[in-house]
Amino acid sequence: MAIATRQILEKKVLIAGEWTESESGERFDVRSPGDGSLIGSVPRCTEKDVQHAIDAAKVAQKQLAALSVKRRAELLWRASEIATRRAEEDSVLLCREVGKTIREARDEVATYSNPHFVEAAEGIKRFRGLINPSTQEDSNDKRLLITHEPIGVVGVISPWNWPADIPNIAASHALAAGNAVILKPASTTPFSAIALAEIYEEAGFPRGSISVVTGPGATVGAELVRNPGTNAISFTGEIETGEEITRQAGIKRLLLEMGGNGPLVIMDDANIGAAVDAAITGCFYLAGQVCTASERILVHEPIHDDFVERLVARTKQLRVGNPLDEATDMGPLNNAANAAKVTAHLEDARSRGGRFLTGGGWDGLYFEPTVVDGVTSDFLMAREETFGPVAPIMTFRTVDEAIEIANETRYGLQGAAFTSDLRTAFVLGEGIRCGTVLINETNNYWDQLAPFGGRNKSGLGRELSDWILAELTEVKQISIDIAKVR
Ligand code: NDP
Repeated sequence: MAIATRQILEKKVLIAGEWTESESGERFDVRSPGDGSLIGSVPRCTEKDVQHAIDAAKVAQKQLAALSVKRRAELLWRASEIATRRAEEDSVLLCREVGKTIREARDEVATYSNPHFVEAAEGIKRFRGLINPSTQEDSNDKRLLITHEPIGVVGVISPWNWPADIPNIAASHALAAGNAVILKPASTTPFSAIALAEIYEEAGFPRGSISVVTGPGATVGAELVRNPGTNAISFTGEIETGEEITRQAGIKRLLLEMGGNGPLVIMDDANIGAAVDAAITGCFYLAGQVCTASERILVHEPIHDDFVERLVARTKQLRVGNPLDEATDMGPLNNAANAAKVTAHLEDARSRGGRFLTGGGWDGLYFEPTVVDGVTSDFLMAREETFGPVAPIMTFRTVDEAIEIANETRYGLQGAAFTSDLRTAFVLGEGIRCGTVLINETNNYWDQLAPFGGRNKSGLGRELSDWILAELTEVKQISIDIAKVR
């Protein structure tokens, strides 16, 4: 099937089971970062639209929770079939709105986002409670039933870099657990979330149990957060937004996934070829716009020259260009605000005497893959998340020094290290203060059934598999005294 890459889309939002305009009647345009062309427009929703979606979600949530687990799993399997059928079309749309390459877009849709339907369907069947005896004195006749109940209405606020996978982790598992979901996608990439809503609606989820509202974070997103009708917020985005959400939410469950400044430590006993491969994927996948990216490469002094020479040679081979071209390795950045941040980090590195071994230039949103040597802890790119295609090289002399540098920022999402020594692997694995530490693997590796999340300012709570089911449910204890029945 030929997929249209120039079609102008005029999508509506799904609220209370109806595809509709915003109550204000306003819309906003979305342009492709690849060439600035118009992809289409979506409704500019308001707080009233959010309230309408919440009112319907409260009713629909009860209907969804009343369905058997088996029935909810069947709906998710049906969603999986629909998503598989339209995967190529959704990948092209995602490529156009994010600017990631078509190969990266297919990765997101087929390898990461679409499997969540089945992971959630099968996960909920095995997500069990407990029956425990009482542990108190003189209570031998008590039995404690520990169950997981749906939490209610879940607001899912997502960023632009993974516009299908990230909202779908939360949406699939929330619905599996019997919750209603309201999606609020990033304003530069609303179409992938609308595609998810189309899939869930076609699969037959109760009307109103999934809605999507598009519009500004400061109004639509903030209303989802503040409104007492939402019981949980699953947010992924920047630390500052997460902190604002924490201030505004009041008492409700918050699952926060925020930025990273991932260290990649390379010891002198490492497999250097494998470490170079890891750095290329860690720094340049999705033009570096990944929360788990290798944001700082810490190289052991004795192998510095060898590692850097090989990294620069590989970096020079990367092809930057049109994201829809199958041969492209790296597309543009998604938006001007992110480009301004990357530019500021490059200029700061220059002013501090960083040695640019390759790259360092840009044309609009297209940035060259860049390797900067001689980076120290005072550089902006060492302290803060750059979110661009940059490999900053830092040098260390001992394992303790590597751990100290790795832990000196406010982040703590995903660290990685290369070594051939088992003891060093454990010292680094236990010493690096991140939610995940990967030994002999790129920072950009994600196991879909393992806990994912950050420490420090990088996050609160854990996603994927049983861990997100636990976040999106309420633990209930029911105590029964079997001696006191008549
Ligand atoms: P932002 O924080 O700018 O935006 C994220 C979402 O929040 C968007 O939908 C945005 O809407 C919305 N939003 C903005 N302001 C508010 C508000 N006051 N209340 C409620 N919602 C609001 O992040 P980006 O989209 O720029 O995403 C990039 C960031 O996300 C990076 O820091 C990256 O590291 C992080 N990230 C973390 C991941 C993780 O798993 N830890 C994974 C992927 C990304 P709008 O677009 O309309 O402004």
